[in-house]
Amino acid sequence: MAFQFSERLKALPPYLFQELDSLRDKVVAKGVDVIDLGVGDPDRPTPDYVIEALYKAAKDPANHKYPVYSGMDSFRKVVANWYKKRHNVDLVPDQVCSLIGSKEGISQIHLAFINPNDVVLCPEPCYPVYISGTGFAGAMNYFMPLLEKNSYLPDLDAIPQDTLKNAKLIWVNYPNNPTGASAPVGFYERLIKFAEKWDLIICSDAAYSEVTSLPRPHPSILECKGALERAVEFNSLSKPFNMTGWRIGWAAGNLTLIQGLGKIKSNVDSGIFQAVQLAAIAALEGDLAIIKEMGELYAERRKVLTKGLDAMGLEYLKTDYTFYVWAKVPKGASSKWFSSVLLEKSGVVCTPGVGFGPSGEGYVRFALVQEIPRLKEAADRISTIKVS
Ligand SMILES: *Cc1c(COP(=O)(O)O)cnc(C)c1O
Repeated sequence: MAFQFSERLKALPPYLFQELDSLRDKVVAKGVDVIDLGVGDPDRPTPDYVIEALYKAAKDPANHKYPVYSGMDSFRKVVANWYKKRHNVDLVPDQVCSLIGSKEGISQIHLAFINPNDVVLCPEPCYPVYISGTGFAGAMNYFMPLLEKNSYLPDLDAIPQDTLKNAKLIWVNYPNNPTGASAPVGFYERLIKFAEKWDLIICSDAAYSEVTSLPRPHPSILECKGALERAVEFNSLSKPFNMTGWRIGWAAGNLTLIQGLGKIKSNVDSGIFQAVQLAAIAALEGDLAIIKEMGELYAERRKVLTKGLDAMGLEYLKTDYTFYVWAKVPKGASSKWFSSVLLEKSGVVCTPGVGFGPSGEGYVRFALVQEIPRLKEAADRISTIKVS
């Protein structure tokens, strides 16, 4: 019997990194010392005090039962406090929903509020889950290009009115993956006005809000007037606390949006292991030295790698946020061609920008997830390459 994938699976966009993956395997098989700056996954371990908290909580039988679906009250309270502490935003625990990593909520929110044939406004280049989440809900994406000339902010005025009439939800992601761009508070204010006019739900993916070398986090959209009427922010311990494997994040904001998401989730999963939630509490309530340390480390790593790009004559976005370097490939080259040449000539893996959307063509993304000596080595190798 030959089984057919469902239409919704068949409609998924193709995986664009296949060629590069197989080229990488070939280069590795040749015995080349490959330096992988491809995936956006922190290389440093989770802080010890978080692991200790997990260990302790895992030994308590009270945590071996089904967790509360929407998240432990204590976790949601700590997240609400976090918004007070980091953004001076007042939330009640009911305005917070725990997530099995923010990816989970980013995907599921569509099922809660989007009907077939609705339009979801999506930036591109982007984190691919906005697109698949829209597709799984039977809806369509309208893509808003993020361009260098607009500081990688979407041009809201360029969206056709006919599209806006059918639009239900808009995605934004700052600090941005893949570009590393940030958004000023003024952008969020304009976005809220725009969303009020067209009655849109705003979904703000803030996974990198705490990945910065600056003393303050990136602004949250929830700080802005009117945000709690129509916005939800997705955030996560994954990137700032080096906890991608732990799978814990949250959605916070408008109560109805949080309730809808919670309702979907109560039919799909049964919450997060309480020991993981207790460990996340330890992380959020800790001294946050890890955030400062990692922010400064990524800034240092950025300097090291961009030296190599400078020597090669490549331009890149200067930013204080994320652990990505968004670099422009030489004029006339495609991002896929450039990535494969870089890999063949230097053993350095980067990600072609076009994999994140058509406006990523002409760019590549480097993830600063190797220690400084390895990045130095990458920079040295890169700087000797001639591509033009
Ligand atoms: C890593 C990432 C996420 C999700 O991370 P989780 O581990 O699921 O919390 C969400 N958005 C962006 C843009 C990311 O890069």
